[in-house]
Amino acid sequence: MSKPVHVVGGGLAGSEAAWQLAERGHAVVLHEMRPVRGTAAHRTDKLGELVCSNTFKSTETSNAHGLLKAEMRTLGSLILACADEARVPGGSALTVDREIFSQGVHDRIHAHPRITVTREEMGEIPEIGIVATGPLTSDVLAERIRARLGVESLAFYDAIAPVVSFESVDQGTAFRASRWGKETMEGAGEEGAYLNCPFTRDEYEAFIDALTTADQFTAHEFDSVPYFEGCMPVEEMARRGRESLRFGPMKPIGLRDPRTDTKPWAVAQLRMEDRAGRMWNLVGFQTRLRIPEQARVFRMIPGLADAEFLRYGSIHRNSYVNAPAALTPHLALRDAPTTLFAGQITGVEGYTESSATGQLAGINLSRMLRGEEPVVPPPTTMMGALYRYLREADPKHFQPMNANFGLLDDLEGVPAKVLKDKTRKRELFAERGLSSMTAWRDLHAVSAVSAA
Ligand SMILES: Cc1cc2nc3c(=O)[nH]c(=O)nc-3n(C[C@H](O)[C@H](O)[C@H](O)COP(=O)(O)OP(=O)(O)OC[C@H]3O[C@@H](n4cnc5c(N)ncnc54)[C@H](O)[C@@H]3O)c2cc1C
Repeated sequence: MSKPVHVVGGGLAGSEAAWQLAERGHAVVLHEMRPVRGTAAHRTDKLGELVCSNTFKSTETSNAHGLLKAEMRTLGSLILACADEARVPGGSALTVDREIFSQGVHDRIHAHPRITVTREEMGEIPEIGIVATGPLTSDVLAERIRARLGVESLAFYDAIAPVVSFESVDQGTAFRASRWGKETMEGAGEEGAYLNCPFTRDEYEAFIDALTTADQFTAHEFDSVPYFEGCMPVEEMARRGRESLRFGPMKPIGLRDPRTDTKPWAVAQLRMEDRAGRMWNLVGFQTRLRIPEQARVFRMIPGLADAEFLRYGSIHRNSYVNAPAALTPHLALRDAPTTLFAGQITGVEGYTESSATGQLAGINLSRMLRGEEPVVPPPTTMMGALYRYLREADPKHFQPMNANFGLLDDLEGVPAKVLKDKTRKRELFAERGLSSMTAWRDLHAVSAVSAA
């Protein structure tokens, strides 16, 4: 424990990771490049700066973000302790005064006797340490990561399409098939790999009208995206011509609706996002529409009138590693298990998710430095389910993910009638998640750290 451990990036994940390590007895050097070098979104030199909204989302455990936070609290979290202290009225959401929050993180980290903060842009990946440089990782380090992991392993933009839950898709309208019956997929069998939502001509025309007039985000400097093939927003493609989608991602060729035995005018295809088939991705529907507009417009797709959105679409600047292709289950380099990644750069999305991976990275690096194996909570917990996604998602279509109930293992032994009650189902997910988290923590003797 004599050599210091290096944490690169003093954002949410890096600050949490540094705290976890220091509280577990390790000397830590935290490298933060601000203010020597800024990013396009950060405005201050404070550690743990929130770059955009001031909320960590719901505190209710019947909400996926609330459950993740409750799990984090069983392990002790610097970020959540500082958020609690900076809380402002926001209903059931953990909404904070951003200045009080980051000042709290900043002061606690600086005051910790085992943490040294250095202000420098790191261009190297530490052999014993944690890379937590976030979605706006500086170019020099991003290039270094790319060189180490391989070109295909680090993306610079997300082009995220919405994901809906399987159970919310109307199976009386959507049909399972692959184009020409050819695009098979492991496990899809005779059924075909896609769920197809068929449009009539009138439905298609109404959809295009709504899509092309819906309200969208305007690009900021930090996330202005040079649109390229495969990343073009669906609304932009529709604006280039009313038929573009019908000849692009919504083309009906090779598909027949088995119920009407006709070729649909157009189709929206959903592709399985997880192996259990709970989450389905709207293929080609990466979008910059505002969230309420996504819900309104995409629910016009036949079969999606009652769609539950587990993740909304987005397109923005985001450096992230293709974790299922390049990292170990505990998010380390495959050839260097004590070089871990944490935060948004691992392919999670959001303040809470980023902090959670910082927490577990700190715990695991500490374990390895003590000669113990790294451990990951089970997929009955929200944290473990996120890690499973990062481990098992299809590397060819890997897109960042936020906490959501579709990631969790199904509830076993619960009558179908009970599961139909969405509120009760979420309560059961939460009860199981929290008890699994405590059992996992106790099994591996992971102590909870103090954030005082
Ligand atoms: C513009 C934008 C807006 C976002 N808005 C939200 C939102 O409203 N809500 C939400 O939940 N999520 C949001 N996110 C997503 C994400 O949750 C946040 O970016 C979150 O801050 C990620 O935490 P992190 O610790 O991984 O990265 P960060 O908090 O960004 O921390 C990374 C740190 O690493 C430093 N750094 C980078 N490169 C180097 C280097 N080479 N050497 C040393 N230091 C370096 C950076 O200066 C930064 O301080 C947003 C992302 C972006 C880009």
